[in-house]
Amino acid sequence: MHSERNLRHAQRHIQALALATECAELGSRIRTIQLLTGLSASQLHRLFRHPLGGPRRGRHPDSREWYHTANLLCRIEASIVVVLFRRLAVRGIDLPLALIGAYRHYLAFCKTPPRISFDRAFDLVSHATGRWLSTAKSFSIFACPACKSEYLTGLSLAPANNHDCPFCKLLTRHARDPRIQAAYPSKTLQRDIQLFWVSACRNKSLIPMPMTNSP
Ligand SMILES: [Zn+2]
Repeated sequence: MHSERNLRHAQRHIQALALATECAELGSRIRTIQLLTGLSASQLHRLFRHPLGGPRRGRHPDSREWYHTANLLCRIEASIVVVLFRRLAVRGIDLPLALIGAYRHYLAFCKTPPRISFDRAFDLVSHATGRWLSTAKSFSIFACPACKSEYLTGLSLAPANNHDCPFCKLLTRHARDPRIQAAYPSKTLQRDIQLFWVSACRNKSLIPMPMTNSP
């Protein structure tokens, strides 16, 4: 009985270490890894103490105000990460793995250096779901009535038109904004631009191996 319990404990610990390593590879801060894995800060500092290979330190981003003042491309990428996370989470994938899968998918499709760090992605998802860092939701996901893309809005907002939709704005500004053209080459630009990001969500290779009893 004792040995079974010890074995289960060892398996959970190994899974937490594997998750921590994935997060560290994505540039995560210790605090983010701690919240996602349940491992202690001292354990993580011992594991990732090398400054070049280890995760970032310093202040954790807070997205509640940031999102509403961020530029158009940041708001689009923030929305993409959260929407990808939600699509994986509703399929029953463990939430830490859904976050890692969504973030890897986002990185794979970025045409320019990513504007959303893994810590930012974690913070956005925390405040969109009321988990980990947060006990209450600060964002809703709203489907634009014009282009059908889903994007982050303030909590409980349901805009009656597409005036605040970052994807509609992207399409309008594309012809005159070189930064937008670099991030979204015209051959990938389409009316339902969000599908460009979301479609490969079905590709299982982008989703980490499922784990049982993860934190
Ligand atoms: Zn739209």
